[in-house]
Amino acid sequence: MISFTDVCKLYPEGYEALKNITLSIEQGEQVFLSGHSGAGKSTLLKLIVAIERPTSGNIVVGQQNIAALKRSAIPYLRRNIGMIFQEQKILYDRNVFANVVLPLQVTNFDTKTRAARVRAALDKVGLLNKEKADPITLSGGEKQRMCIARAVVHRPTILIADEPTANLDSNYAQDIMAVFESFNQVGVTVLISTHDEQLLGTTSHRVLELGHGQLVT
Ligand code: ADP
Ligand code: ADP
Repeated sequence: MISFTDVCKLYPEGYEALKNITLSIEQGEQVFLSGHSGAGKSTLLKLIVAIERPTSGNIVVGQQNIAALKRSAIPYLRRNIGMIFQEQKILYDRNVFANVVLPLQVTNFDTKTRAARVRAALDKVGLLNKEKADPITLSGGEKQRMCIARAVVHRPTILIADEPTANLDSNYAQDIMAVFESFNQVGVTVLISTHDEQLLGTTSHRVLELGHGQLVT
């Protein structure tokens, strides 16, 4: 589903964020990406969704070769991927429903279908009763769940999350992980970066560890 072969990423200033990364994630798998701050976790996730481009090496996501992907093909790649990044843009001038429907506004679904999709996604993350709420009134965990609903509303086959529990208490963090688990159980391929040692110590899923831009495990 996702494969990297000898991938390197040098940022323009010459910093080598990733060195010779080779990995493969199967369809339907759930994998954690761990590593210290600055290890290259965000960079690796950004390469998958073509926010950043590799300096060298090969990346395949689904059937698509990311390194060779034309700029105009990026939206098609992302139709298949749900992204939860830290610099999440929540729009505070509209309610939860209106935030979650955003990715569907570029599709040609009719209003009824959009509403059904939004409610199905809110239901999956346990926020169905909050669709009319103002996002400012949500707790940290609820905001994160809203972002997950927005990331899955177009039914992607891959979900990618960058430190989704970073700013949450451990109770909320467990709720969020249960939400990802539930998507994985219906066949979604899930890749989550985290430095939560407690979670990493107890998970039954595969853990890929990055250290200074290289895979340690
Ligand atoms: P992590 O997510 O593990 O904290 P990152 O992928 O964010 O690691 O960063 C890896 C390294 O690349 C860090 O040293 C960081 O400073 C550097 N880096 C990240 N983004 C950029 C950028 N846009 N330009 C230059 N250097 C960057
Ligand atoms: P509906 O009730 O409209 O048929 P589902 O219960 O199938 O919807 O799915 C509800 C929501 O859960 C979807 O909008 C999507 O966000 C998410 N979802 C369900 N299955 C998948 C899947 N295989 N891949 C990605 N997301 C999914």
